[in-house]
Amino acid sequence: MSLSARDLLAWYDRHRRTLPFRGEADPYRIWVSEVMLQQTTAAAAGPRFARFVARFPDLATLATAPESAVMEEWAGLGYYARARNLHAGAQALLARGGFPDTPEGLREIPGIGPYTAAAVAAIAFGRPVVPVDANVERVTARLFAVEEPLPRAKPRLSALAQRWMEAEEARARPGDLAQALFDLGATVCTPRAPACTLCPVRPACAGAAAGIAAALPAKAARPPRPLRHGVHFLALRGDGAVWLRRRPPRGLLGGMWEIPGTPWRDSPWAEAEAAAHAPCRARWRAVPGVARHGFTHFELAATLRVARAEGLPEEGWHAAARAEAILPRAMRRLLALAAEAGAMKIAADSNSGRSAP
Ligand code: SF4
Repeated sequence: MSLSARDLLAWYDRHRRTLPFRGEADPYRIWVSEVMLQQTTAAAAGPRFARFVARFPDLATLATAPESAVMEEWAGLGYYARARNLHAGAQALLARGGFPDTPEGLREIPGIGPYTAAAVAAIAFGRPVVPVDANVERVTARLFAVEEPLPRAKPRLSALAQRWMEAEEARARPGDLAQALFDLGATVCTPRAPACTLCPVRPACAGAAAGIAAALPAKAARPPRPLRHGVHFLALRGDGAVWLRRRPPRGLLGGMWEIPGTPWRDSPWAEAEAAAHAPCRARWRAVPGVARHGFTHFELAATLRVARAEGLPEEGWHAAARAEAILPRAMRRLLALAAEAGAMKIAADSNSGRSAP
C-alpha cells in the first residue's frame, strides 16, 4: 500500500477547515492552540483561543502572569493541568530565550509532551514529523488495518503515521500534512461513520478494503469510573452575589474557584456530617437534583444547599455572571442546578424560615 501525500495535500488545499488558529506562523500561538485542542473540540476551542491570546499575546506576558490569572482564563475548558503546564512551559521557554525548533528540543520543556512537541515542530518550524493525536491514531489504524486495541497499539500507530514523511511532498509541507490528517479525521474519517467515498486516500486504505474501517481503532474495555459524592454550599447575598473560595493550589482543579463543600468520597454524606463543611452557619436548604460531572478517573454526583448569608470574607463574593465565567465545569453544573431551582427564592425562604419549594 502506498500513501499518497500528494492526494492528501491536494484535498487539504480544497477542503481545509477555517479555524481561528489556522495559518499561524508564530510558535507561541501554535503551541497555545495545540494545547487547547487536546481534550477540547475545535468548535469550542476557537473562541477561547482568541480570548486567551488577546489576554496573553506572547510568551513573556504568559510567563509573567500570575498562575491564578491563567487558571481563571482556562475556566470551563477542563483538564486544568494543561493551563498549569502552559504557564510553567512559558516560564521555561522565556528563560531559555524562546522556542527550540526541533521535537527533541521542545520535549525538554516542562509540560510539552510528544504530541505537542511534534505539532509545534511540524507546523511552526517545518520539521518532518507527524503529530499523533486521536484523529491521526484513528486514520492510521484504518489505513493500515491495525486491529490491535488502544492503548497498546499507540507506539505502533505512531510509527506507522511517520511513514507519511517518506514522501517528498510531505517533507516539503509537514505542517500542512499534519493539519490535513487532523482535518481528515475530524471531517471524513470520523469515529462512527467514516465517509470513505469522499476520502482522498481511499485507494490506500486497508481498513476500508477489508470492510472493517468503522470498527477501528479497537479499544480495550475500560473499567467503569467509580462514583464519588459531594455536598456543596452556595451562599447568596441579597444583591445576587455568590460566595466562592479557591481550591488548594495543587491537585484536582488546583487553584480554581469552587463553591465550598465537602471533600468528594465514595459514600454519600449524611446531612449533619456534610453541614460541618459549610462556609458559615445559616439556614441551608437543599436544592432538588444532582449535578453529575465526569472526571478522568471518577464521576462526581454533587448536591447543593443554598442559604442567604452575610459576613463571609469580602474577597469571596462574586456577581453571578462572573462566577459562571471563572468556575470550572463541575461547579457550573451546580450553579445551573441552583438557577433551575430558583435558588434566590429558596434562600429567601430559608431566611424567613419557610420551607424550600
Ligand atoms: S478510506 Fe475510509 S477508513 Fe480509510 S482513511 Fe479514508 S475515510 Fe478513513
